[in-house]
This record gives sequence, structure tokens and C-alpha cells, in this order.
Amino acid sequence: MIIIMKPDATEAQINQITDKLKKIGFGVHLSKGAERTVIGAIGDKSTIQLETLQMLPGVSEIVPIRKPYKLVSREFQPHDTVVKINDQLSVGAGSPIVIMAGPCSVENQAGLLEVAAEIKKSGAKVLRGGAFKPRTSPYSFQGLGEEGLKILKTAREKTGLPVVTEALDTRDVELIAKYADIIQVGARNMANFSLLKEVGKAGKPVLLKRGPGSTIEELLMSAEYILSEGNRNVMLCERGIRTLETYTRNTLDLAAVAVMKKLTHLPVIVDPSHGTGKWDLVPAMAKAAIAAGADGLIIEVHMHPDEAMSDGPQSLKPETFAQLMPQLRSVAQAVGRQL
Ligand code: PEP
Ligand code: MN
Repeated sequence: MIIIMKPDATEAQINQITDKLKKIGFGVHLSKGAERTVIGAIGDKSTIQLETLQMLPGVSEIVPIRKPYKLVSREFQPHDTVVKINDQLSVGAGSPIVIMAGPCSVENQAGLLEVAAEIKKSGAKVLRGGAFKPRTSPYSFQGLGEEGLKILKTAREKTGLPVVTEALDTRDVELIAKYADIIQVGARNMANFSLLKEVGKAGKPVLLKRGPGSTIEELLMSAEYILSEGNRNVMLCERGIRTLETYTRNTLDLAAVAVMKKLTHLPVIVDPSHGTGKWDLVPAMAKAAIAAGADGLIIEVHMHPDEAMSDGPQSLKPETFAQLMPQLRSVAQAVGRQL
């Protein structure tokens, strides 16, 4: 089992537990991270009452070692992962909160450059835009493909903003990796294990979105696929799940942020746009996400949402995004983060 100590646990409290464990024959492995100490204890669990151990001062949580996910677990790595994007941006581990913004789809160069300049001016640090779009209907706009990737590249050259874009298919991963700074695996593909392996090999940071019908554990197992290919630069994204509620497009599971912070060392990003489906709900959920501990947000912004080729109803206008940013900054400050 793993005993996770509270961040403020004292040396004496840690010793009290390790002594107790050793006395009853457990092998004890201490791991002192920057934030907290984790005690790995190997032995016969039936010889100890876990409830009494849990009650000792300084103990935060006792976790059995047999989680199905390993590399993504806090047991494996107690300290937070910092995902580096092009050596210009850090995500996670208390780094400033990263706001990713831009249109759902790349539609044309002029529109993307215009919105990219706007979101940059407001303080966004990453430009989003889909070139390969996972649409519910085969008759809906499917994205510009490689032309869209080229437009993203131009936007990056003009603004200096790294770009995040989705890979839908294993056959496109190599191509997308040439253009993108972050490869997005969309909600619909969260359990596409071939795709996960492929992005695991691509050597680029990955934004992995939670499937609308997936549990947190399933999301972590999908991340495990990417890490197991040797790519540790994974950001998890809560973007809403399907529940009985129909008012919103999805139910944004903000508890998942707090849960993931417990279970994994990977950064957590929240997408309030797909999480609500309605632009006027985005600001409240964006603020709530930061309060809940998110390391970043991904927000859809379009110059003219009423003309957007996808997800217009949930896209903010640049003015609304600009008004939101200082509010996000205040919330970040209130929870001890920067933005
Ligand atoms: C998107 O980011 O535009 C998108 C399609 O998101 P999701 O996979 O979360 O639906
Ligand atoms: Mn979208």
C-alpha cells in the first residue's frame, strides 16, 4: 500500500508511521517529493488496521498499490508533472494557469489570424483550432485537413503562440506532429487505443480529453497508454460527460478536477465550452474550474460565433473573452495561482 502524507506533515509524524510499519514487519520506502512525502509499504495488509493508520496525524490518504494505472498514478510519481511546450511554456505543478483559446475549427486564414491576435492580446498562451473535426454528422464541415494545419503554422509564426489541434486518425498523426505543438485526442477518441499509442510515439505534448461516457479511471487508463509509449507530456482534459441533464450540452464534472489532482500527477485542463455548449455559461464554469484547481483552460473563441462552421453557440466573442480574463486572474490569485 501507499501512505500519502499531508503536505504539511512533520518529520516526527512521518517517523511515527514508518516505525509502526517496520515494527509489524513491513518494508518501508520513503519518497520525499517537493510537495509531500509518500510512504510505500510492502507487507501483509491483514496484519494492520488501515482505519487506525488513517487516523494518525499527518496522514492524508491510504491507497492500495494495485491501481490498474501505474505511470500516471501519484503512487508512482508523487510530485506534479510539468508539461513543457516548446521550452516556452510550462503547464502543471503550480505553473501559471495556461489559457488556450481559439475557434472550434480552422475555417480560413484571415479569420484565424484575426482571432489569434485577439486572444493573444487578452493573455491567452496557446491557440486552439481543429483542422480534422470529429462531427456527429458526416454531412457537417469536417475541417480543412492539411490546409488547416498550414494556417495554424502561419498563425504560430505571426503570433508566437503554440498551437493545439486534434488528431482523429492514426494515419494523420505524423503529419499533425509536424505542425502542432500539442496534439489533441478528442473525447470521441479517448478509448481509441491505436491512436493513443501513435500519439504516444509522436514525441509531442498531448491534450487528452475525457470521453463523454467515460469514468475518470478510464481516462487515466487511456493516459497510461500514452505514457507507456514513453511520452510523459500528457495533459488531461475534463470537457463534460453525458448525464440525464439536457439543459447543457454535457455536464461539466468539476469534481473530476479535484479527483484527478488526487489520483494523478498529470496537469488537468478544463474545457468549459464543450462542457456547457452555451457561451453564456462559459465564464462561470471557467472561473469555477480555476477555483477547483485546474492547471489550464481551453476556451472556444470566434470572431463571429453566429457564422462559425462548428460550435458557434458555445463560442465567446473576443470582447467577452477579454472581459473574462481579468476575472480568471482574480480567481487564480484567490486560490494561490498566477495566470
Ligand atoms: C473540440 O475541441 O473542438 C472538440 C471536438 O472537443 P471534444 O472532443 O471534447 O468534443
Ligand atoms: Mn468544438
